[in-house]
Amino acid sequence: MTDFVLQITDWYRQNARDLPWRRTKNAYFIWLSEVILQQTRVDQGMNYYLRFVDEFPTVTHLANADEEQVLKLWQGLGYYSRARNLHKTAKEVVERFNGEFPASHAELLSLKGIGPYTAAAIASFAFDLPHAVVDGNVYRVLSRYFGIDTPIDSTGGKKEFQLLADSLIPAAMPALFNQSVMEFGALYCTPANPNCESCIVRSSCPSGNGLYRSRPVKGKKTAVRDRYFHYFHIEENGTLLVRKRDFKDVWHNLYEFPMIETEGPELTEEQLAVFGLKTEQLIEQLSAKHVLSHQRIHAAFYRVSKPKMDAFEQFIKVDNEGLHKLPVHRLMSRYMEISGL
Ligand code: SF4
Repeated sequence: MTDFVLQITDWYRQNARDLPWRRTKNAYFIWLSEVILQQTRVDQGMNYYLRFVDEFPTVTHLANADEEQVLKLWQGLGYYSRARNLHKTAKEVVERFNGEFPASHAELLSLKGIGPYTAAAIASFAFDLPHAVVDGNVYRVLSRYFGIDTPIDSTGGKKEFQLLADSLIPAAMPALFNQSVMEFGALYCTPANPNCESCIVRSSCPSGNGLYRSRPVKGKKTAVRDRYFHYFHIEENGTLLVRKRDFKDVWHNLYEFPMIETEGPELTEEQLAVFGLKTEQLIEQLSAKHVLSHQRIHAAFYRVSKPKMDAFEQFIKVDNEGLHKLPVHRLMSRYMEISGL
């Protein structure tokens, strides 16, 4: 075992956070936590994890749930494709493996919703198999400590880091090693202000002198697209109009008010005519920006007076209670909060 592995695992034993998914060998719970924690902070993900475990105590419970129930429980976490994949994978585990996660890395990888990272996490944490996990924290720690400047988002980079992590992982304690590097990256060798001054591996780290700022190296910049959504809050006799986003786009299968998407921030009379509306019928209530991984959504919410209801025949009518039972995206829930719906 290398000094790095010994130092990092010692550090972990003394400094690790006590988190519920670290106290279990239940592959289903471990998988749930991994999916919830992708792109989510631990403090934010914790309540979601506890609610999912409570509502769906086994993978079979989750597989048998309605997709809407799963999306509703996921509401607020974002990246909703994760929730839909979670549900699909649960069904696959029930159909192909009788409701038990397979105890082999290859079989875990054969599940459609499980990629190399999650397969390695379940294999090592639940079944103590020597597969190294490489997430954002691991890329950061390894690139800094081993001084690697290969872009982590390149095919070559991904391979190089995976090989390095696989070569470090001790067969006798794969889970401990994986947890240690991830936790060290999350708490100590952090993106912006790593604590290099008092770092336990400082003497052998080539990045402690300030070079940490340029590591890990990322190649391509993802283009971010601006989109402009105009939402209409239409209420008549205690009912509201909504639709399900059952088409291929962001927030698939979540609910929202009738809306028009425009090329720029302006909403013209011509565009409003689609719903038989005129500008003077609209009172703007909220303008908000929501940033997704590749898109910046600029949203405006308008309260509509005297709408012609026959222009909205294709929409679903719900009362306030019904609206709260539906899975909605962050912009909708924010509007519902501020408008007292
Ligand atoms: S010395 Fe700094 S950059 Fe190197 S591992 Fe420690 S915290 Fe990270």
